[in-house]
Amino acid sequence: MRTFPIFVSFDDTPPLVVGGGQLAAMKARLLLKRADHVDVAADLLDAELSAFVDAGRAVQLAPMPGIDQIRGRPLVISASEDEEEDARIAKIARSLGVPVNVPDRPPLCTAALPAIVDRGEVTIAIGTSAAAPVLAQRLRAWLEHELHPRLGDLAKLAGSFRDRVAGALPEGPRRRRLWETIFDGPAAAAMLQGEEAEARSLIDLEIERAAETRENDGHAPQGRVVLVGAGPGDPELLTMKAIRALKAADVVFHDKLVGEGVLELARREAELISVGKTKGAHSVPQSEINALLVARAKAGQTVVRLKGGDPFIFGRGGEELDALRVENIAIEVIPGVTAGAAAAASLQIPLTHREVSHTVTFVSGHEAGGAAPSFEHLDLRALASGNNTLVVYMGVTTGAVIARRLLDAGFRTALPVIAVENASRPKERRIATTISTLAVDPDSLGLSSPAVLIFGEVAGLPAAGTVERILAHEEVVRAYA
Ligand code: SAH
Repeated sequence: MRTFPIFVSFDDTPPLVVGGGQLAAMKARLLLKRADHVDVAADLLDAELSAFVDAGRAVQLAPMPGIDQIRGRPLVISASEDEEEDARIAKIARSLGVPVNVPDRPPLCTAALPAIVDRGEVTIAIGTSAAAPVLAQRLRAWLEHELHPRLGDLAKLAGSFRDRVAGALPEGPRRRRLWETIFDGPAAAAMLQGEEAEARSLIDLEIERAAETRENDGHAPQGRVVLVGAGPGDPELLTMKAIRALKAADVVFHDKLVGEGVLELARREAELISVGKTKGAHSVPQSEINALLVARAKAGQTVVRLKGGDPFIFGRGGEELDALRVENIAIEVIPGVTAGAAAAASLQIPLTHREVSHTVTFVSGHEAGGAAPSFEHLDLRALASGNNTLVVYMGVTTGAVIARRLLDAGFRTALPVIAVENASRPKERRIATTISTLAVDPDSLGLSSPAVLIFGEVAGLPAAGTVERILAHEEVVRAYA
C-alpha cells in the first residue's frame, strides 16, 4: 500500500468508528487526541467507550451503519472485529470516496493510520505503508525522546506572531530568515525553558530589527553565501552545520561530485543548480559560477555553494571567496570530509603514523590546464626519504606518470600504493599495488574517476579483506629496477 501523508480536519464532521469492543475503543481513544468527539456505531459498548459517551466525547449510533452514516466522513475506522461487516463498511466507504481504515486488513484500507508524536501544535506522523508498524513505533519512541516536550508551545507562540510578521515583512527570503533567527536563537531557547514573557520580548526585538533593516537601506538586504563541504558522497559524513545550511538554502549550486543523498537534504523549495565541473570539461566556467553566486546573494538569497569533500582542498573555494569579498558579500565556510580522509577511514589506515609516516601531503594529479603534474614545487627527494604519505587527487589518468616521477626522485620501488575509487559511496572500490607496478603498467589499477591514490608505507597497513584486489607486482618491480 503506497500512501501519501496528509493531515485531515475533524472540525466539521466527526470521524466514525464501527464496533464497540476493545479494538474500537483503542481507535476511538486515538481519534480523540484530535477530535472533539467521535461517533461510534455499535450495539454494545465496552467500558471505555461507555465512559466516552458519558463524558460527551462519543455519540453512539445504531450498529451496521449505511450510506447515510458514512457519507461525508473525514475518516471511518471499521473495527467491528467481524470480517464480513468490515468488508461491507470498506466497500461503502470506498464507493463514497470516504477514507477508510480497517485495523490489520491493509487490502480493505484506503487510509493508513500513522504512529503519532504529539506536541500540541506540532504533530509528527510516521508511516511505513503498512509494511512495518513495529518499526514505526520504534521511530516514534526515538522521536519522543529527541523532541523537546515544549515544542508545541513554541509553535503556538510562533503562530501568535504570524500576522505581525506578515505585516512587518513581505513574503520571501527575508521573512523566512527572520523565522530562522527566531527558531535558532535565544527566543526559542527561552520558550523551550518555559519563559514565555522573555521569549515574547525577544521576538518583538527580532521583528523590529528585521523591519528596520528594510526601512534603512531602502532596497532588499544582501543575502549570503555559504561555502559548504559536502564530503565524499555518503550523506552521513556531512557535518550538522552543512545540513543546517542546506535546510536554509534558497538556492544550491552544486558540483557533479556531490552525492544524490546529500542533495536530498536541501530545503524542499530550494532551487538546485548543477554547475557540474568534471575534469577537463567545465560545464560552467569558474568566472560564471562566481558571477552567479554574487548575483543571487545580491538579490537577497541564502546561497549554498556545495562542493565535494572539503571546499578548500582542490575545490577552487579560494577563487570563489575572492570574488565574493570584492563585492562585500557575507560568507560562511563549512568544512567537509576530504576524499583522502574518507578513503583512509574506509581502508582503516592512518594517514600519519608514529612509526612510518610523520607528514601527509595532498597533491593534485593535474596541473591547471589538465597536464600531468611536474611536481616542481615539491621537494621530492625529501619526500623520498620516507616517513611521509602522499595523497594524490585527480590522478587516475596521470597515476603512471606520477609514479615514474616519484621513482626518479628516489622513492623505493616496492612502496605500497592504494587507490580508492568512489570512497564512501555504494560503488566504492579499493585496489592495492606498488609504485613500480603503477609506473610500468598505467592501466593496472583499472580505476575510473573519482579516485584518490595513497602512496606511502601506511598503504601497506590495511587489514586483510579491506582491499578488493592486490596486484601481483614482484616481476614488475624487478623489470623496472
Ligand atoms: N574538494 C574535494 C576534492 C575535489 S578535486 C575534496 O576535498 O575531496 C576532485 C577529486 O577529488 C577527484 O578527482 C578525486 O581524486 C577526489 N575525490 C572526490 N570524491 C571522491 C570520492 N568519493 N572517492 C575518491 N576520490 C574522490
